[in-house]
Amino acid sequence: MGLKVAKFGGSSVADVIQFKKVRSIVQTDPSRTVVVVSAPGKRYPNDTKLTDLLYLCQTHVEHNLPWDQLFQVVCDRFTAMAMSLGLGSSQLNLEKEFETIKRDLNGGAGADYIASRGEYLNALLMARFLDFEFVDAAGLILFDERGHFLAEETDEALRTRLKKHKGAVIPGFYGSMPGGRIKTFSRGGSDITGSLVARALHADVYENWTDVHGFLVADPGIVKDPQPIDYITYQELRELSYMGASVLHEDAIFPVRETNIPINIRNTNDADHPGTTILADVPRDPEKIVTGIAGSKDFTVIALYKHRMNKDRGFVRRLFGILEDYDLGFEHLPTGIDTMSLVLSNEKVADRLPDIVADIEKKLEPDNIEVNEDIALIATVGKGMSSRKGVSASLFTALAEADINIRLIDQGSSEMNIIVGVLNRDFEKAIRAIYGAFIGGRK
Ligand code: ASP
Repeated sequence: MGLKVAKFGGSSVADVIQFKKVRSIVQTDPSRTVVVVSAPGKRYPNDTKLTDLLYLCQTHVEHNLPWDQLFQVVCDRFTAMAMSLGLGSSQLNLEKEFETIKRDLNGGAGADYIASRGEYLNALLMARFLDFEFVDAAGLILFDERGHFLAEETDEALRTRLKKHKGAVIPGFYGSMPGGRIKTFSRGGSDITGSLVARALHADVYENWTDVHGFLVADPGIVKDPQPIDYITYQELRELSYMGASVLHEDAIFPVRETNIPINIRNTNDADHPGTTILADVPRDPEKIVTGIAGSKDFTVIALYKHRMNKDRGFVRRLFGILEDYDLGFEHLPTGIDTMSLVLSNEKVADRLPDIVADIEKKLEPDNIEVNEDIALIATVGKGMSSRKGVSASLFTALAEADINIRLIDQGSSEMNIIVGVLNRDFEKAIRAIYGAFIGGRK
């Protein structure tokens, strides 16, 4: 029998009703023997995610403010869930767990530790509820003393520990450093845990259960009823996620990609829907040139012009040196013979733009420098684009017909994406125009 690693996100484990859906999903397929859970997410739109409550507790501790009542909200939520799930205190000593966390909080255990307790407690509950073994991620998901993730050591530890399990629940989002100190991934990081576990166990598939049917060709907030994406390659997804299509944590792709394990995004609230499958290669439908369109607003473009730039030795090195001085990465860097456009994220640049520009002027001596802080980037992604003629022409025509001025063009060397920069105010209109040109009435 094969093995499936099933990761359930926050909204899939937010309350008792969701826990029951999870159990039914796990029980309908005996190969779903390894379950990874997030902390309870929102139960209704204005609800607070449990992880946010925990971070808030930590902030109170740091500012010497009373945090008992806040922490009680966390405890009450778990206690009520345990009771409604019929998990008595003989099976789960939640009070003791709460006491330990309070003691550690008082003892200055730190933000990562406190944030991780949502996943920890939820996994305890889920393991009892499914009658699976609780397997703590501390000691298995490993980081070095500086907090850098240790891929090979983690792989080995997970494989050894889970070799003979008969059903395991693992908390997502965190692991530990030498000495046992808890370290979390970035927000949404339970997706990464699921991916690491799937890789270590050579799973047949990594199922990522969430509250949507998978990926859509475009953001439904911009395009009305966009088509679903049934199949997508890791590479295409990477391009789209980077550009803001967020269903899965960006870093969750790498571990399974290396071992070619498909990721299947599924909806806990509609378990029969096949969702989106992410694979190394996808059989191409000649009709489908574009797989997805995504983008985000608020980039700065610094366009440099220098006569004979291509002959100016060290031009790029000096530019990168400036970026390093500001500890800044660039998002894109389209170039011509005498031109180079540096695309930076506004959020990362913050208020340092005038200093950066002054440094560029001083150290690179461009003939002309133009700065635009009001740019949105849109990526049109599709493996099928590389073998087709006229794709860029159709894209640019669609934008021209929508009366949109293109400020920047960058076509990846993989020929799998075309990125255009437009003014922020044209962002939504541009996405709709591209969708109309390539997807429109496509079945
Ligand atoms: N609970 C964590 C968060 O809210 C991690 C996760 O849900 O994946 O970011």
